[in-house]
Amino acid sequence: MDRVNKYETIIGLEVHVQLSTKSKAYCGDANLFGQPPNTCISPISLGYPGTLPKVNKSVLNSAVKLGLALNCKITNYNLYARKNYFYPDLPKGYQITQDTTPICTAGYVEIKDAKNNKKKIQLTRIHMEEDAGKSIHDLDPFYSLLDFNRSGVPLLEIVSEPEIQSAEEAYSFLYEIRKLVRYLNISNGNMEEGSLRCDANISVRPIGEKALRNRVEVKNINSLKNVMKAINLEEIRQINCYETNKSVDQETRNYHAHNNTTTILRTKEDAHDYRYFPEPDIPPIIIDDKFIEAIEKDMPTLPKERYHKYTTKYQLSDYDANVLIDEKDISDIFDEIVTHTKSYKTVANLLMGVIKSYLNENALIIDDLKVPTQYIAELAEMLDKNQISHIIMSQKLFPEMVKQKKSPSIIAKEKRWLQEDDTNSIDEHVQKVLEKYPDKVQDYQNGKTNLLGLFMGEIMRETKGKLNPKSISEILRKKLKK
Ligand code: MN
Repeated sequence: MDRVNKYETIIGLEVHVQLSTKSKAYCGDANLFGQPPNTCISPISLGYPGTLPKVNKSVLNSAVKLGLALNCKITNYNLYARKNYFYPDLPKGYQITQDTTPICTAGYVEIKDAKNNKKKIQLTRIHMEEDAGKSIHDLDPFYSLLDFNRSGVPLLEIVSEPEIQSAEEAYSFLYEIRKLVRYLNISNGNMEEGSLRCDANISVRPIGEKALRNRVEVKNINSLKNVMKAINLEEIRQINCYETNKSVDQETRNYHAHNNTTTILRTKEDAHDYRYFPEPDIPPIIIDDKFIEAIEKDMPTLPKERYHKYTTKYQLSDYDANVLIDEKDISDIFDEIVTHTKSYKTVANLLMGVIKSYLNENALIIDDLKVPTQYIAELAEMLDKNQISHIIMSQKLFPEMVKQKKSPSIIAKEKRWLQEDDTNSIDEHVQKVLEKYPDKVQDYQNGKTNLLGLFMGEIMRETKGKLNPKSISEILRKKLKK
């Protein structure tokens, strides 16, 4: 047996979601990314003595939303706790977080496993906490610089059970979380900006062994692709240790994206003792059923429900439905377009085909398109009614519609792009092609019916796709019978 196949991997993920609330978790400072350093700060976020934190209600809102979307139990009686450690970007000397009463417990994330089957990854907890400031080590040759804009920015930390079994499953887990926070509109989920951060606890053991072996925590993973890379690295490193009769130490390692390596950050011996204790400056927060019900009523339609609607009400395939719900913006616009038409499948095709290519080619997002959704609906219906050929639609009519922001049927009429259903004209062309290929006509009548394509192609070319192909084929068949 391949030595890699002798082992299995067990992964638990800790995901930090940075919330896009207007203000910070425990004070009124603006919560904005990319501002000049130290402009979104106040005595509270700098931890001056004598200042008092105050809970931001929209953080509770976001936490409950996420908890409900992940099938969690919401904790009614919430305590805050201090997690004590010293670091220059943490001026208070502690982080306000939750310890014994995380706001959400139980729940799960549904992912796809290696065989594309659904798999539930149970969650240990989701708790509320605050971010630290940022140390900048590479800007000044002599000093480390500190930017406290991020101090006190609200975070939700999602902790999974160690039920993830491969790098691909970890990717899928994170992907689902990112999709969900975007649908819930609680975070932009952007890993590159640090709005979504992931630490992975990874251990490896020979298949068949029951107990868990030492785990290694890998930090500083900053993109979806790097989650897989970091896990793969660690799997190989641990297997190499076991194969050469070395042990794996319980430690924390840092991932470096620029050269795809990990280095040791700290060992078990220098692990922190955070001396958690209840935060004395914040009273317990009670979340009652009324609060939860109000949020429940206001929940947006989630990917799972949209998938259901797309595959039942709109009769789309599993593939189409998944592609559409993958990005909230696309799914939103689909929902809007189909309020104007029943050509569901053609609308889906337009979004996944000509519209997607147009956006990619011009480096745009769907919001940049600015074409009224009823025009896209109209375009879909023109295709379904064979009023326009697909090639003229995609190469001429669609770009023109984007340019003019005008009804596509009016444009098509003005430009004479409509497919003609004029039987006389079709008759003429059919006659011409049959006269051109008398032996092929013989062959057809002797059973080589796939020659129909040849005749069709010839006529379509001659007429530049302006005649309705369905009518052409009908008339062709009729004439060829004689
Ligand atoms: Mn944390």
